[in-house]
Amino acid sequence: MDDKQPRPGTLAVWAGEESYLLQGSTQVPVVHSVSFGYKDLDQWLRVAQGEEEGHIYGRNTNPTVHAFEEKVRIMEGAQAATSAATGMGIISSALFALLSPGDRVVSIKDTYGGTNVIFTEFLPRFRIDVTLCDTTDHETIEAEVAKGCQVLYLESPTNPTVKVVDLARLARAGHAAGAIVIVDNTFATPINQSPLQLGADLALHSATKFLGGHADALGGVICGTEALVERIYHFREINGATLHPMAAYLLLRGMKTLKLRIRQQNENALKIAHFLESHPHIEKVFYPGLESHENHRIARRQMSGFGGVLSFILKGDSFATLREFLPRLRYAHAAANLGAVETVVGPPATTSHVECTPEERAAMGIPESLIRYSVGIEDSDDLIADLEGALSEIS
Ligand SMILES: *Cc1c(COP(=O)(O)O)cnc(C)c1O
Repeated sequence: MDDKQPRPGTLAVWAGEESYLLQGSTQVPVVHSVSFGYKDLDQWLRVAQGEEEGHIYGRNTNPTVHAFEEKVRIMEGAQAATSAATGMGIISSALFALLSPGDRVVSIKDTYGGTNVIFTEFLPRFRIDVTLCDTTDHETIEAEVAKGCQVLYLESPTNPTVKVVDLARLARAGHAAGAIVIVDNTFATPINQSPLQLGADLALHSATKFLGGHADALGGVICGTEALVERIYHFREINGATLHPMAAYLLLRGMKTLKLRIRQQNENALKIAHFLESHPHIEKVFYPGLESHENHRIARRQMSGFGGVLSFILKGDSFATLREFLPRLRYAHAAANLGAVETVVGPPATTSHVECTPEERAAMGIPESLIRYSVGIEDSDDLIADLEGALSEIS
């Protein structure tokens, strides 16, 4: 990194805000106005035709929303960024904007549950062929990509078994086949991983998770080249899945502490993963920071921290053990979310893969008793004591 280039912690606080600060305010205002008025008809025309910066109608663009997009864009080192009301809003906008009937997508089996539904249920209805490969089988992914595809869609680390794929290697394969390479960077955040620098064309986030970090606002954002982002924006402005200005403000405010939160969550997660790995009641722990993780070497190469999410299986793999265990945790919301300042736990059956049948989950290698543990920013000693207590009480 260039010496004069601000570091991520500084960018998280300052980036993207300057031109939106109103009358000396030090915080970006929440602009609730649905439309933007022009006394000068010629200026209105220039803005409408994209020749001059400005806003016309809130479904298309909004100053608060734009400040949020700018912060993420700068942190991901991208030319352009656009947002949507949710992570799924931006994922579906991207796929439907970039694909046409007759096209083919190659992806992995472990994508987020909602994304998987787009691949298995919706895209095929538009005669878009989808091939889902075993997530860490790089040779097969490369071979499928080489047969020809328009989009290579990746996610790393994945939800909920935190598998890691080699983004640089697969981006090369994607480009050799002329495909657009999209990476869901939700779990890593720009603090831990930079997909665009690893060669991806587009990096996206469910901002609902780590970017916002406080579990109080939904949002999605995608970053990449001007040309690709423009196509996605154009689809999103018409489908109407617009990010709300109030949500944009909450996400923007949450992002100011992104570096601090992620650093703490990286540390906590690694300590907890080590603790669980050595606990007699635990069958297996999944965390990219563990030497025992199947893709630890790739993770070490492409990530600067291993993230705040881990998952584990209790011995005697059964949903009944979960029923006993989860309510005993004091410092963990049992809820369908992750990436918050509070620790959040949940089984995939009720969270990331609630859209799938037990058979589909089994086919994806997700045991019914898997627990996803999204580590918060609490003191790790308290979280470990909490886990230790709950584990000692189960039969
Ligand atoms: C939650 C999540 C999504 C979907 O985001 P929403 O904001 O809930 O629509 C997409 N990808 C990943 C990895 C997620 O965790």
